[in-house]
Amino acid sequence: MVERGEGAALFTKDGRRVIDAISSWWVITHGHNHPRIVAAIREQAEKLDQVIFAGWTHEPAEELARGLVEMTPDTLEYVFYSDSGSTAVEVALKMALGYWRNRGSSRHRILVLEHSYHGDTIGGMSVGARGVYNQAYEELLFDVGTIPFPKEGAEQATLDALDSACEAGDIAAFIVEPLVLGAGGMMMYSPKVLAEMRMICARHGVIFIADEVMTGWGRTGTLLACEQARVVPDIMCLAKGMTGGSMPLAVTLASAAIFDAHYSTDRSRLFYHSSSFTANPIACAAGVANLAIWREEPVLERIATLAAREREGMERIAQRPSIANLRQSGSIIAFDIAVEDAGYLSQLGPRLLRSFREQDVLLRPLGNTIYMMPPYCLSEDDLATVFAAIENALDEVGV
Ligand SMILES: *Cc1c(COP(=O)(O)O)cnc(C)c1O
Repeated sequence: MVERGEGAALFTKDGRRVIDAISSWWVITHGHNHPRIVAAIREQAEKLDQVIFAGWTHEPAEELARGLVEMTPDTLEYVFYSDSGSTAVEVALKMALGYWRNRGSSRHRILVLEHSYHGDTIGGMSVGARGVYNQAYEELLFDVGTIPFPKEGAEQATLDALDSACEAGDIAAFIVEPLVLGAGGMMMYSPKVLAEMRMICARHGVIFIADEVMTGWGRTGTLLACEQARVVPDIMCLAKGMTGGSMPLAVTLASAAIFDAHYSTDRSRLFYHSSSFTANPIACAAGVANLAIWREEPVLERIATLAAREREGMERIAQRPSIANLRQSGSIIAFDIAVEDAGYLSQLGPRLLRSFREQDVLLRPLGNTIYMMPPYCLSEDDLATVFAAIENALDEVGV
């Protein structure tokens, strides 16, 4: 039972201080209860709690949209608000399909990368990897084309598969997690591959959707993962860290071509997606405060320092013979434990989870993969505690 959060720590009712080494499922960026974000939420809550976002607007939504357009690549000029990463993805898929339909094209198929995760709504699950967490709903999920994950050394196979899939001519869009596949097991690939995948899509006129829900807001060492590949997507999804992790809020950013395809006096061509809490003013105010922190504080330097310390701290753990595939992208560091029953349901996971909890460290292995994705304010002492907890846990399970 958690009562309070501050910086990288959670405080429980029974008096424990727990280090949040996974940013409470990848959302907390600058730390829990950042004073500037808390102040913005308090101030906005006293002015305007909620207003219909159809035909009406408000300053926090306008200011945040302007800020987002400024901070992201030039051609992403349009902002559509929703309230979670999953809905941001649904909106992106609907925009892509609407684009083709309004142009009189029958393109409708979506391509995805193997091992992807794009959310838990039906559309999000459809474009994500199939597995234990969605097999009960299989009949509801729509069919997609799957491109093999670009394994190191086999990148060309991925690019060739994408190229020939795009040839088919019925492909509306390709959706990718840039550089890091999060829920799929923190699988990483190079900016070069990302850039080439983007080029292939452009060549075939296939809409390129970047799902930066996890990778955005600095996780990979740059504000956006796409920046490292100089990739500008046609549509981009942001959520998780957009309010510093304090409030649920998401956006789908789109290019003028996507917007224009829906801009019409013919109302049947409009983009239809509305939800009750679209652009909630309090959440937007938290988003505006997050942008101010990014503009005025040395966030990228903080991430670089944290990433260097993580790399250093991992050196000893990496010596263990059972550790494989150590990898890092910005503040995300991950490794696998060589076990017989690898995968999400690995028996190792629950045992490690228990050990971490007993040591007051919040880490949540993905099957046999242990990873860290802490808030950028994590101190050197806390980081040392997290590494000690990992070593103890590995000793306990005997690997
Ligand atoms: C978490 C995540 C989502 C879903 O976001 P929610 O806010 O949990 O709905 C979508 N895409 C990626 C890449 C994610 O990591």
